[in-house]
Amino acid sequence: MTSTERSIAAAEAHSAHNYHPLPVVVAYAEGAWMTDVEGRRYLDMLAGYSALNFGHGNRRLINAAKAQLDRVTLTSRAFYHDRFAEFCAELAALCGKDMVLPMNTGAEAVETAVKTARKWGYRVKGVPDGRAKIIVAGNNFHGRTTTIISFSTDEEARADYGPYTPGFEIVPYGDLAALEAAVDEDTVAVLLEPIQGEAGVLVPPPGYLPGVRRLTAERGVLFIADEIQSGLGRTGRTFACDHEDVVPDMYVLGKALGGGVVPVSAVVASADVLGVYRPGEHGSTFGGNPLACAVALEVVAMLRSGEFQQRATELGEHLHQELGLLVGGGAVEAVRGRGLWAGVDIAPAKGTGRQISERLMDRRVLVKDTHGSTIRIAPPLVISKEDLDWGLDQLRAVLA
Ligand SMILES: *Cc1c(COP(=O)(O)O)cnc(C)c1O
Repeated sequence: MTSTERSIAAAEAHSAHNYHPLPVVVAYAEGAWMTDVEGRRYLDMLAGYSALNFGHGNRRLINAAKAQLDRVTLTSRAFYHDRFAEFCAELAALCGKDMVLPMNTGAEAVETAVKTARKWGYRVKGVPDGRAKIIVAGNNFHGRTTTIISFSTDEEARADYGPYTPGFEIVPYGDLAALEAAVDEDTVAVLLEPIQGEAGVLVPPPGYLPGVRRLTAERGVLFIADEIQSGLGRTGRTFACDHEDVVPDMYVLGKALGGGVVPVSAVVASADVLGVYRPGEHGSTFGGNPLACAVALEVVAMLRSGEFQQRATELGEHLHQELGLLVGGGAVEAVRGRGLWAGVDIAPAKGTGRQISERLMDRRVLVKDTHGSTIRIAPPLVISKEDLDWGLDQLRAVLA
């Protein structure tokens, strides 16, 4: 047995089998590269589903974390700490909003958005108690809690976990007429990914997001944008909504907000919306802890420079140009995405997404399949053009 095989067998023996990882055991990582327990180097073209937008071991983020580790790491929200105010103010400013509610994981932030919208509906909009409705899109991915999977259309994510939380209506993604027909007087919010990540990097038709913005504003409904995967530089702008000059009522953020170091998530909105909370009505022991705030503050500072958005734009143009050349050649059926983010539909004759991912792994490139025949490409935004080109060479070789 190799040390890789030993590690995998041991992991499978003592962990629930809720994932099917590629058979690589990572021991070290820096920038866009990971090294496994046998010393092999791999190009990371997944970046932790966009949690690693700034790359592995980013010095600015690691230094911010190390400095904070020596000062104070956790207070709980029973007390204030000296990184909290700055974190909230800076993140709010990045979003053009004025209030932040920090949590830890993406799913918790989505739960927070759902609770906020319901409370806003009852307290501000005047929806009769127990009637609040939130409209979501088919093929959504918003996380794994019991309420969130209640409005999933993915049977794998949903089956066996009922009874399901009521209060959600699902309409087809990208269909403004269907959304308009679903809005009624009890509707408190529309919750959408501005680009659907897990569904295969689905970009909605042009005009859809502005249409959602117009409709929700007219009907007194909150527009909640889940930018957990699409936000923070990935698409070439700070938020995917920025491409169409759309400002939602609530941003839901996670993944890259923690810089690949610690889990940090947040809901960001105006005081009209997040102002609905009173002490004791919502919370989290770890949410907004000093270590999380120190790292996320550095993330916000890095995004304020615009440098990562610029890289994502330039490298993204190159990525999509190269991937576009593969479409129609028999191996690739379609490519979607924006910035340094692409969903590539592989022709079934070439193998499943899983098989393509395994063949890429043999060539030292790590990606992950989603929904059968699609692979998702989302390297860290710090990847060099040479490394990106090398990764694309490996993809072309696998598809040849
Ligand atoms: C990853 C993701 C989530 C859930 O985040 P977790 O940190 O895994 O709970 C929610 N929404 C979107 C769009 C995501 O990509």
